[in-house]
Amino acid sequence: MLAAIAALLDDPAAADARLFARLTAESPEVPDWSAAVWPVFAPILEKNAVARPMVVRVLEMPLNALALPHRTVVVARSLVEFCRGHTAQLAFVLAHELAHITLGHAADRTRLNALAGLLGTTNLVVGMASRFLLDRAYGREQEFEADATAVRLCRAAGYAPGAGAEFLDRLRGLDRGTGVGNLIDTHPPLAERIAYLRSLTA
Ligand SMILES: [Zn+2]
Repeated sequence: MLAAIAALLDDPAAADARLFARLTAESPEVPDWSAAVWPVFAPILEKNAVARPMVVRVLEMPLNALALPHRTVVVARSLVEFCRGHTAQLAFVLAHELAHITLGHAADRTRLNALAGLLGTTNLVVGMASRFLLDRAYGREQEFEADATAVRLCRAAGYAPGAGAEFLDRLRGLDRGTGVGNLIDTHPPLAERIAYLRSLTA
């Protein structure tokens, strides 16, 4: 196990594959939806000349989006559904997670180290904890940095730059009604992120 953890920390591509296998053991991929989301994601990669080959995978899991360390953006089918008819908002969600990868947040050693200890288990509750760690472990500055980068990535790809604030605002409305928005990564709080995003695109 120790060797496996060391390998995980030293090889982000392997970490990606192992974490994806771990996630899909609980939350199966919906391949048709992954294929359908690709045309929204591809222009962000192409127009920003992202050199590393990236992928987006849609999983049957609670409303959420997260980034694996190396090249994989994961998004819940329910979140894609929530963005139906709001393509630029889905693009923002994908760009925010992509930013966590390209900025190196997703491969942070401290975060991976915490995750590595959870990977060997088959306990579903611990599996949930690993997912929680994956998308909540970023610092406040990293979230703002990912939001700012996402706006830049989306603008370059031709998506409306105000879509991020609109998405978070709709999410906030959903949260008021159902509490489900709490599942989304909201550190810093939605209101602060919306204000920050609006300041960037004003
Ligand atoms: Zn984030």
